[in-house]
Amino acid sequence: MKGHRVVLALGANLGDAHAALRGAVSALADNDDVEIERVSAVYSTTAVGGPEQDDYLNAVVIANTSLAPHALLALTQSIENLWHRTRTVRWGPRTLDIDIITFDDLVSDSVELTLPHPRAMERAFVLVPWADVDSGIDLADVDQSGVVATKLVLTIAPQ
Ligand code: AMP
Repeated sequence: MKGHRVVLALGANLGDAHAALRGAVSALADNDDVEIERVSAVYSTTAVGGPEQDDYLNAVVIANTSLAPHALLALTQSIENLWHRTRTVRWGPRTLDIDIITFDDLVSDSVELTLPHPRAMERAFVLVPWADVDSGIDLADVDQSGVVATKLVLTIAPQ
């Protein structure tokens, strides 16, 4: 598929987080406008900020898409909604979170879609799985304190 290269970060820490990540990857794979290139391993990470909450499962997906940025955001939000994501507490636990980390080399400072994703770009829970699927990501300067990333033997890639 000719299109835009995007990096998506997936996270979940409520309910069956593994099923949520697997379902998100399947929903992306099922969309005709999205072609998945790589799916990272799933990592267990300590929650950063917000109220005390369970560890997260995190993964990164590299994909190509013919969708425009806002159409991709609408898709990722509809997939979040499929998992009955609740938004009651800011930074609080969530059944599924999908962030668009990069969209080609696009830079956008709109509130609705900020690119590259400002917070996630610095976070070990994004960078560690990202490095798993992109040899261009250098973890040397990444502050991993307080974030324990454990590579789990779980698969979320569509079979
Ligand atoms: P959160 O669920 O806490 O990640 O925040 C979701 C909100 O962030 C939504 O209202 C989006 O419109 C907005 N947002 C801004 N930039 C991005 C991005 N790069 N990826 C996903 N959501 C974004």
